[in-house]
Amino acid sequence: MSYKLFIPGPIAVSEKTLRAMAQPMIGHRSTDFVALYQSIQPELQALAYTKDPVFLATNSAWGSMEGAIRNVVKKKVLNCMNGAFSDKWFDVAQRCGKQAGALKSEWGQPVDPEALRKELSTGQYDAVTIIHNETSTGTMSDLTAIAAVLREFPDVISIVDTVSSFTVLPIKKDELGIDVLITGSQKAFALPPGLSLLSVSKRALDRAATQTDRGYYVDFVEFQKNHEAGMTPSTPVIPLIYALKSKLEDIKAEGLDNRFARHAQLNKMVRDWGFSKGFKLFPQEKYGSLALNCFANNLNYDLAALNKTLKSKHKLVIDGGYGKLKGKTFRISNMGDETVDTIKSLIASLDAALAETPKLAS
Ligand SMILES: *Cc1c(COP(=O)(O)O)cnc(C)c1O
Repeated sequence: MSYKLFIPGPIAVSEKTLRAMAQPMIGHRSTDFVALYQSIQPELQALAYTKDPVFLATNSAWGSMEGAIRNVVKKKVLNCMNGAFSDKWFDVAQRCGKQAGALKSEWGQPVDPEALRKELSTGQYDAVTIIHNETSTGTMSDLTAIAAVLREFPDVISIVDTVSSFTVLPIKKDELGIDVLITGSQKAFALPPGLSLLSVSKRALDRAATQTDRGYYVDFVEFQKNHEAGMTPSTPVIPLIYALKSKLEDIKAEGLDNRFARHAQLNKMVRDWGFSKGFKLFPQEKYGSLALNCFANNLNYDLAALNKTLKSKHKLVIDGGYGKLKGKTFRISNMGDETVDTIKSLIASLDAALAETPKLAS
C-alpha cells in the first residue's frame, strides 16, 4: 500500500525527514533538549518574520486554534467564515463557551475587508479569527488588506490560521500586526502530523494573563514561561522536532525566496493543466490559493473513479472535494517538497487517468 499524497494535507514526507525522526530520545528537561529548542527558535522567527516567540505545541492545528480562543477571547470573538475550516472555528468558539459572531462569505470567496471593518465597528468584539488560506475551497484571502483594517481596532486581538500557507509565501507577522499566528506540521512543512507552531504577541500574552479560564494544555502563559527556559510546558513530540530541525536545514539550503518562487511556479503548472482540460477554478482566480488548486468539477467527471485509477495505476491520490463540495470540486496540493519533475509526472498521470474516467450523467 504505497502511494503518494497530493491531497492538501497531510502531504508526502521525504526520506530525509523520516530518517531525522529515527533518533534516540532525549529528556525534555535536559540540556540537550534546551539546545535543540533554542537552535531552531531564530529560524522559526525568521520564517514568521517576527521577534515574538514561536511556541511548539504538541497537537494538531485545531488544538492551537481552540487554545487561542480560550486564551484571548473575553468579550466576544468575530469568526470570519468562508469555508469548512473557518466555519468550524465559529462552532469551536461556541463549544468553548464564548460569545461568537459570524462574518460569512460564500465558499470560494475571500474574507471581505470592508465587511470586516463594518462588523468590528460595532465595538462588540475583542478578538477575530481569520483563515489565510481556506484549504477546503483553495481560497487565499488578502492578509495585507485585512491587516490594514485590523490596525483600526487596537483592542481586537487577531488570530490568524496560516496552516496551509505558512512557508508557501511570505507571511510577515510583525509587519502585518498579527497577534496569534498558527500553523501545523503536515501541510506546507511536509512533516508528519502532530506538531503545531504558535507565535504569540506581547498584546495577546497580556490578554491571556488576565484570562481566568484559559485552561492548561495550550496556556500561552505556561508556554511563555517554559519558552524562556528553552522548553515546552509538557513532554513534546520530540521526533517531530527533530524532523522540523531537518526541514529548517532544507529550507535554508534552498533559500526562502527560491522556495516561494518554486511554490508559485508549481501552482501555476497545475492550474494551467486544469485550464487546458477545460476545468474552472472553484474560487475567483485572483484569490486562488498558491498552496493548492481547487478546481470545479464543471466537466462532471466521476471523481471517485478518477481517484481509484490514480491510486491503483499511478500510485498517487488527489482530493475529491471537502465536505459539501465532495464530487463538485477536486483539490491538488503543490505544497512541501514537490519539484517541476514531480509535478510533470503528476500531470502525466492525471492526463492518463482522466482519459479513462467516465463522465456522470448530469
Ligand atoms: C488542515 C487545516 C486545519 C486543521 O488542521 P489539523 O492539523 O487537522 O488540526 C485548520 N486550518 C486549515 C486552514 C487547514 O488547512
